[in-house]
Amino acid sequence: MIGIFGGTFDPIHYGHLRTALEVCEALELDEVRFVPCGSPAHRSQPGASAAQRLTMLQLALDGADSRFRIDDRELQRVGPSYMVDTLASIRSEFSECALCLVVGIDAFQGMPAWHRWRDIFKLAHVVVMERPFEPSYADALERILSQRQVADRAALAKQPAGCIYFQDVSQLAISASRIRDLVRHRKSTQYLMPEAVRAFIADSGLYGS
Ligand code: ATP
Repeated sequence: MIGIFGGTFDPIHYGHLRTALEVCEALELDEVRFVPCGSPAHRSQPGASAAQRLTMLQLALDGADSRFRIDDRELQRVGPSYMVDTLASIRSEFSECALCLVVGIDAFQGMPAWHRWRDIFKLAHVVVMERPFEPSYADALERILSQRQVADRAALAKQPAGCIYFQDVSQLAISASRIRDLVRHRKSTQYLMPEAVRAFIADSGLYGS
């Protein structure tokens, strides 16, 4: 099974890395692909350029878990980055393999606003990581949940796509927006993300550093 961890990664931080590792181990994934978003369709544009976000991801994953990979296909495409297109593109390379789109519960709640969001379940499972966040689901998402949620992770390996599974992960209240605020206010970001990423932010003057 392949995990697909999409994000803006503006910047990547330990909240991403630690939870990706926990999901990888819990679901016995063969690999986790970090997919940096090219041009986000559903949120404000990132503070760092696509090239800078990719560099930070490379720095963070250098020497990291051998199952972690970077998949930069969204950065190669022009126009808005739609997850449904990304998954269709990955699916064209892995016809049988179970694909698990890994999302935080905040991102999951927002799924009904995504382009062709229902088609995502034809292409991948959705694995939802709990975060310190009280979700409020739209009716359409509640209906999909009632049809597709599975309690047993073994169900994910039995079919290539279509299930929703909730995975407990360490609750790390780290977010990229908080990190950007800390940098802007000249506060320390130590222990929130890899040192190499912190050094890159400082050297390139990102986020007002
Ligand atoms: P921002 O604060 O700018 O919104 P973010 O920290 O949420 O950014 P993203 O790159 O937008 O980071 O998130 C990518 C994915 O990682 C999303 O599915 C998000 O829910 C998840 N995620 C981010 N931080 C955490 C965390 N601390 N714990 C679990 N999941 C996380």
